[in-house]
Amino acid sequence: TSPTVGSTVIPIVNKLREVLSTIGNSDAELELPVVAVVGSQSSGKSSVLEALVGRDFLPRGSDICTRRPLLLQLVRTTDGEEDAEEYGEFLHLPGRRFLDFAQIRAEIQAETEREVGGYKRVSNKQICLKIFSPKVLDMTLVDLPGMTKVPVGDQPLDIETQIRKMILSYIKQPRCLILAVTPANADLANSDALHIAGIADPDGNRTIGVITKLDIMDRGTDACNLLLGKTIPLRLGYVGVVNRSQEDIELNRSIQDALAYEEAFFHSHPVYNGVADRCGIPQLAKKLNQIFVQHICKMLPDLKSSIRSKLVIASKEHACYGHMPRKPDQGSLVLNMLLKYSKAFDSLVNGTNEEKLTF
Ligand code: GDP
Ligand code: MG
Repeated sequence: TSPTVGSTVIPIVNKLREVLSTIGNSDAELELPVVAVVGSQSSGKSSVLEALVGRDFLPRGSDICTRRPLLLQLVRTTDGEEDAEEYGEFLHLPGRRFLDFAQIRAEIQAETEREVGGYKRVSNKQICLKIFSPKVLDMTLVDLPGMTKVPVGDQPLDIETQIRKMILSYIKQPRCLILAVTPANADLANSDALHIAGIADPDGNRTIGVITKLDIMDRGTDACNLLLGKTIPLRLGYVGVVNRSQEDIELNRSIQDALAYEEAFFHSHPVYNGVADRCGIPQLAKKLNQIFVQHICKMLPDLKSSIRSKLVIASKEHACYGHMPRKPDQGSLVLNMLLKYSKAFDSLVNGTNEEKLTF
């Protein structure tokens, strides 16, 4: 199974979109969650995002790499069409298709430097990148600069405040899911990620804890208690992951290799066997999927009533024009579909087999 974000709900959401578009519904009414990663510098934020998308294209490194917010829109293209290949397009370079993901990374770096120079300054001017692929779910991810305390290079003295403000402007939005990234080799009690997530989401309804770098913890220690929430409880829980090391990146190890390595790592560590549902990128993707589905469930009643009122308006218009021939009752057809969907989603949330979701 592919660990890509949204792989479970792609077919459902897409069908839903299709149904809605038959009555001219705009995408705005099906606002999907935005996923933002927060954490201190070099905690592994970009690595986690990349692993979730399943492609290599973000600047990563031991120094400050993400210096402008990257708004990453995943756009699903239909299988079998001529456009089925994966490519990226930047808002600042309209019409130019990037088929080579290494070039996407180079362009993110170049565009960062165009705005903030070759030093270590940050800017809240976001870079917008769309990735078109038949394998993704329409959704938005945000890669953010890491939190830092001590200014380096030509960073201004208030760099910490600047970055915090920038991060909060994203994560305080109610539809934003927060991946609070803390490396396992640092102290969770001092986690910048959990701290800022707690400010934006005090009830913990939108925050998932992500513990990175489980592979480089002190020998003889493990992250079991962290993952079980015994150290700092978190409503939506924690997932521990192993991403590529700097050396792996320099050796050009692929994401697929890294995922295989991660799986082997957890498999060979007896302590993590007992908490396997909290370990690995595929588990994190699964968790995000579940939250997606719950989110859509919550939106369905509003979606239904908005379609109902649209139908009322449409039929009034028909009445005004007098003898306009009425289309076969498409409206009630759509409503029926939606009703079916909400039932299907309910059963999905309650853990009933999703295979029943065929329309
Ligand atoms: P960011 O600054 O939070 O976006 O962090 P990056 O994703 O750029 O990662 C910072 C550095 O940590 C890079 O050199 C990564 O290769 C390394 N890194 C990230 N996650 C892991 C991990 O799980 N294990 C190991 N060994 N290295 C990691
Ligand atoms: Mg980064």
